[in-house]
Amino acid sequence: MRTWPALVKAVAMKAEFIKSCLKLEDCPASKLPEVAILGRSNAGKSSLVNAWTGRKSLAFVSQEPGHTQTLNFFLIDEKFILTDLPGYGFAKLGKKTQENWTPYIETYLAERENLKGVILIHDIFRDWSRDEANLTDWLGSYGRRVVIALNKVDKLNQKELAARLKVLNPHIHPWPVALISAKTRKGIDEFNRTVFDNLIRS
Ligand code: GDP
Repeated sequence: MRTWPALVKAVAMKAEFIKSCLKLEDCPASKLPEVAILGRSNAGKSSLVNAWTGRKSLAFVSQEPGHTQTLNFFLIDEKFILTDLPGYGFAKLGKKTQENWTPYIETYLAERENLKGVILIHDIFRDWSRDEANLTDWLGSYGRRVVIALNKVDKLNQKELAARLKVLNPHIHPWPVALISAKTRKGIDEFNRTVFDNLIRS
């Protein structure tokens, strides 16, 4: 039996790959507002980028060999730049590390002039660990705004969702939070508004 995806509103944005790089001086010269997206592997970053922009090819670019450990820049609707940051080094950000690319991400997050803030995608089933706390503290120390997208809410009923929020809220409450399912697109329009209001238009 064929299943129709038609109930899901697909608002495809115009999205264009600009470039990949590591060094701040190699980042695209642009005055457009920029938002970076990061999260642990498996939090659903690729799925969110697909659901948000309506473009599967964006996440594909970021997963190609050679792009998985670089900063990947995309022009969205000619309005803003989305920077996809590698997830692998998540736990290492803000710490001394042997990984040779982590300092580039830190330099980017700390110094990129047109960066308006960071979307942190988090699997709602995971607790807020010291890594998340270190990262958000570290971003805060550079005055960076954060929007948190709690993903995979489709797996929870109302009662379970309330229970997870009770656990997570004390840790995440200073930042705007969007409850989303990158899989079903639930909450994506609200997420889009939250990102525009708190980051892109701020
Ligand atoms: P990434 O490593 O952060 O880019 O994560 P992916 O987008 O590749 O997703 C990791 C896994 O989680 C995949 O198996 C996805 O199908 C699944 N996933 C991502 N978003 C959701 C969601 O909203 N709901 C559910 N149920 N699964 C999801």
